[in-house]
Amino acid sequence: MSDRARKLKFKTETKKILDIVINSLYSHPDIFLRELISNSSDALDKLRFLMLTSPELASERELRIDIIPDKDARTLTVRDNGTGMSDDQMATELGTIAHSGSRGFIEAMEMSDDEKTPELIGQFGVGFYSAFMVADKVEVLSRKSGSDEPGQRWSSTGHDTFSLRQEDNIPEGTSVILHLKEEMAEYLDNYRLRELVRKYSDFISYPVYIETGEEEEEEKGKPVNTRKPIWTRSEDEVKDEEYNEFYNHLSFDIQKPLSRLVFHAEGTTEFYSLLFLPSTRTMEMLMPDYKTGIRLYVKKVMIMEEADELLPRYLRFIKGVVESGDLPLNISRETLQENRTVKIIRKALTAKVLSWFSDMLENDPEQYHKFFMNFGDLLKEGIYSDVQHRENLAELLMVWTSKSGDEQKSFRRFVEDLPEDVDRIFYITGSDRKELASSPYLESVGKADVEVLLFDSPVDEFMLQSLGEYKGKKLVSLLREVDIEDLTEEEKAEKKNAEETYAGLLEYIKDQLGDRVEAVRFSPRLKDSPCILVGDKNDPGEMFRQMMKTMNQEIPEAKKILELNPAHPVISMLQELYDKERSGDKLKSYVNILFDLGQIMAGGRPGDPVTFGKRITDLLSGT
Ligand code: ADP
Repeated sequence: MSDRARKLKFKTETKKILDIVINSLYSHPDIFLRELISNSSDALDKLRFLMLTSPELASERELRIDIIPDKDARTLTVRDNGTGMSDDQMATELGTIAHSGSRGFIEAMEMSDDEKTPELIGQFGVGFYSAFMVADKVEVLSRKSGSDEPGQRWSSTGHDTFSLRQEDNIPEGTSVILHLKEEMAEYLDNYRLRELVRKYSDFISYPVYIETGEEEEEEKGKPVNTRKPIWTRSEDEVKDEEYNEFYNHLSFDIQKPLSRLVFHAEGTTEFYSLLFLPSTRTMEMLMPDYKTGIRLYVKKVMIMEEADELLPRYLRFIKGVVESGDLPLNISRETLQENRTVKIIRKALTAKVLSWFSDMLENDPEQYHKFFMNFGDLLKEGIYSDVQHRENLAELLMVWTSKSGDEQKSFRRFVEDLPEDVDRIFYITGSDRKELASSPYLESVGKADVEVLLFDSPVDEFMLQSLGEYKGKKLVSLLREVDIEDLTEEEKAEKKNAEETYAGLLEYIKDQLGDRVEAVRFSPRLKDSPCILVGDKNDPGEMFRQMMKTMNQEIPEAKKILELNPAHPVISMLQELYDKERSGDKLKSYVNILFDLGQIMAGGRPGDPVTFGKRITDLLSGT
């Protein structure tokens, strides 16, 4: 047996990639283990396939992957009994980048700025070479399975050259021995290795064993990974507890999930998915930059922990796993966006998720209530951000109404129950539902008979304006001025009549209030109150202003319109004063009180509380 080592140079391209990997992937050293395990798994796959076609290779031995840390030598070995590599293969496969994408990779590298390099590496996949992130020397012992040739030892420090030497006693398969850098000693730790295998390679279909000598008694001789992905198993085969445990492991949430969805899509694109709804929400989930909780697996290898392209942003509270064999293993966060298959998955998954919600609404209202209480605001976010599903999302809304009491109603039901000739849905928005239920704004449509929607979440105003209408019925805010078009013929006549009768008074009031109001008008929609302050048609509304304020954006206050009730005795009393003593202080004082009343009823406060107080006192004492 020759003990002469051959010294070979890396191909220039390989050398370049090596440098890039070593220098730019520093922030993600963990991935080396998943890359090596994935290579081993591929080699085992190949052998398994060969065993089917070449019976002489078939044996009883267990196809497996072993991870062997050696603290004294500071080496970590990843061993498999897969196909192994022949002499030639070791020189070529590990000396060049065999990858068909390598040329493209080099070109892209040369054109890109430094920041992009980690993504590019992910995109093209340079698996084996990631070993040099954690090791300053890598040795590979390999022998082709079923071959009579002796095996070889490949060795390199990741610089210009590598050496190859034939050796006896190399077992079939491949061992990658990493001489860890001093600062990478954590990868010798039993606990750390288990964590990494469970996190990234749990569902590799071959057993992965870790032998440290430190493992607990019950762990000895047992694979670390569970191998059979829970998401590919049929739902009636898996116990609730197993799903729940998986959810806990996945989400770091200690509670049970509220609901789960097991969905296997077949057709042009095949994928498995297992999704969960948390039973409570955290404040972070509402934040737009909250990381989505969907893990992406390709061919049983975990590719991304937070694959945010698989569902729209507003569904970011969903946790789970998606696996597809139709995606390339080296897909990256960057390429995810443009990938056609990802788009297909996203579309199918979104539709499925929305019907999961509507089934829940239909079949388990109690559970749906809980769900909506926690995540309703995010569905509303979907209404303004996802035009395509706007209608479906609107169907999922739960609403308070002026008649709903303490129970929310399904918006869809509410609309279905409206008489057919009703073409408008009225609503008011505010910060307190209880206050809204007795708001003076309700009377403008007749408190008793018309059911008005009450919205009390900061996102509602914006959501309603994006929605605009539902099933052909227009959504109308009672906090805004009446659209003349929306008045009945009778009301129009009433308005015109009042404008004539009280023309002088109207001018006087406008004069008095000056630029405190945008306009003063008669509004026949009022019933009990003498007046009301409303926004103009384009006013984004108070709730919207508040929401923007929390995002540090000030929307300037808009002047309000004062609507007067022509049928109210206060108006005829003012008219009398106007006729008799319009130059006195009384009329002026009353008009100001009226305006301040409007402010108070709108949930605000008088512009000058002291003067307001004095005017009321005068009024009470009859002076
Ligand atoms: P990729 O796996 O994307 O092809 P790598 O750089 O990870 O790229 O590996 C290069 C090649 O080396 C592989 O294609 C394979 O032929 C060979 N190889 C790597 N690891 C093993 C292994 N454990 N057993 C057999 N062959 C291997």
